[in-house]
Amino acid sequence: VIPEAALLCADVGGTTIGAGAVTASGAVQLADEVPTLGGGPGSVVETLLALLQRVQARAPGAGLTLTGCGIGVAAPVDVATGRVGSEVYNLPELAGSPLRDLVAARTGLATVVDNDVNALTLGEVRFGVARGCRSAVVLALGTGVGGGVYVNGGLVRGASGHGGELGHVTVDLDGRACVCGSRGCLKAYVAGPDIAAQAAEAGLTGPAARGLTAPEVFAAAEAGDAAAGAVVERVCRALGAALGGILNAWNPEAVLLTGGVALSLEGHLEAVRRWARAYAFEGAYRVARLELVRLTKATTIRGAAALYLSEAAPGVRE
Ligand SMILES: [Zn+2]
Repeated sequence: VIPEAALLCADVGGTTIGAGAVTASGAVQLADEVPTLGGGPGSVVETLLALLQRVQARAPGAGLTLTGCGIGVAAPVDVATGRVGSEVYNLPELAGSPLRDLVAARTGLATVVDNDVNALTLGEVRFGVARGCRSAVVLALGTGVGGGVYVNGGLVRGASGHGGELGHVTVDLDGRACVCGSRGCLKAYVAGPDIAAQAAEAGLTGPAARGLTAPEVFAAAEAGDAAAGAVVERVCRALGAALGGILNAWNPEAVLLTGGVALSLEGHLEAVRRWARAYAFEGAYRVARLELVRLTKATTIRGAAALYLSEAAPGVRE
């Protein structure tokens, strides 16, 4: 049997780290997953390295030869150095970590590291919903809000790796305070905890002993609660305003909404589209597909493979 070439890939999220071996068609084999913070404070990198080694050890038995390594991480990353940026809000212990060099040293494989939403964006363009698009934007709406911008066949990373931080574009000049220190950021309206906070400020209460969650706010709105309905309408409008900016800035063929909050928005997509249309140039709005993408760990792991292929082997396309 001739071994099949595959890439060792991982997605480092705030809750779990997923890893697997990704073949040329984007299929994820030997998938494995561990809690990101299960090993105690300061252990995220070691947890990742141990998981990668576990997949690596199983590869020969599955008839796979690993030829490189791609990692997506929920943090800003300077892809040229493979070092995590200094402003990391959900995994602060990774700030400044030379992650690419650490992974390469442990696995012995050429390694590419980038932001997880950038990796996901490349994955959707190469293997997924945006396959074949020359331009596509991904907005990941969850605990935080991440963005990936792909135009003219490449990611917009910017001069210092902050390109595509779409969660922190301003949609309200004097708006809600944001974790990043700014005001009126998209994230301050549409991230899960911010949706819950806005509903609590409007007087909505959750089950005793704990606060509200975003899905509960959506459920209350659907049950006819006026305060929750107003919050959901503002979520749709803030998102529409940001989409208007995205459509006008890059005129993409596709905009993919993903993450837990995006799934809650499934029944509100028409409102989101209506606001996007109100804020965008009609010609930019008309050509853009706006779609929900259901994320699985396999989707994000194969994104890391697309990342490796675009960086280590640019120009190679299936
Ligand atoms: Zn912000």
